[in-house]
Amino acid sequence: MYRPEVAAYKCRCAEFILAITPPLPNLPHRDPSICGVPSLVIPRKDAQCVFSMRAERDRKPIRLTLKDGKVERWFLYRCPRCDLAVAYDTADKDAAYTYTLESALLKMDVD
Ligand SMILES: [Zn+2]
Repeated sequence: MYRPEVAAYKCRCAEFILAITPPLPNLPHRDPSICGVPSLVIPRKDAQCVFSMRAERDRKPIRLTLKDGKVERWFLYRCPRCDLAVAYDTADKDAAYTYTLESALLKMDVD
């Protein structure tokens, strides 16, 4: 029988942030030649991917200049305890993807 594996991740400060199936290592990396910040891609409109994120999303985006010179808006998601940026998406509404910042999240052991 199919049993989806749910993985949990915490912030660097140990605050619980993300529960997701499939686990992050099974998700694709964003092409590092685009932005240079190691990010994993969470598809928001894929029924195979279910997640819950406990993070506060900034109302105002930051602007990043990509390697090809284009400017991208990042709406950051921050840890509710320590304010560290843990993820972002690039659309104001209805983002197709959310990107997690690889260096921010640590896997939790849950039994
Ligand atoms: Zn934190």
